[in-house]
Amino acid sequence: MSVESHAIEVETAGHSQVLDVTEQVVQCVDGGAISCGIATVFVLGSTAAITTTEFEPGLANHDLAAALEKVAPVSGRYLHEETWHDDNGHAHVRAVFIGPSLTVPIVDRRLQLGTWQQIVLLDFDTRPRSRRILVQVIGE
Ligand code: ZN
Repeated sequence: MSVESHAIEVETAGHSQVLDVTEQVVQCVDGGAISCGIATVFVLGSTAAITTTEFEPGLANHDLAAALEKVAPVSGRYLHEETWHDDNGHAHVRAVFIGPSLTVPIVDRRLQLGTWQQIVLLDFDTRPRSRRILVQVIGE
């Protein structure tokens, strides 16, 4: 068994932007020696998240943010903001609900994703951010 580590850097606009990072993760697997195992995709930071979705404009630019607005509204009251005098309490709560990482199986050197299933980074912070995603490919 071996482990290969890769880093992906992306610039985001924040404000619940959804970015398709599938191709960057595919490159990590394509360029490595592991043909069977798993890829763990993890974003550093507590106001961003990683998951899969069908990456199309309705979901990516509207539906996901609209659903999360019901869970953690931008204008809600957050004690976090009183602690730090910042404005991103909703961003932290949204990130907790989605989670920071995803594991995707690899078979025959291919990530096992559905045709309409992309790997996405969601950035909930209230300003543009540089995000670092670590991809660890584990297997043989
Ligand atoms: Zn904060």
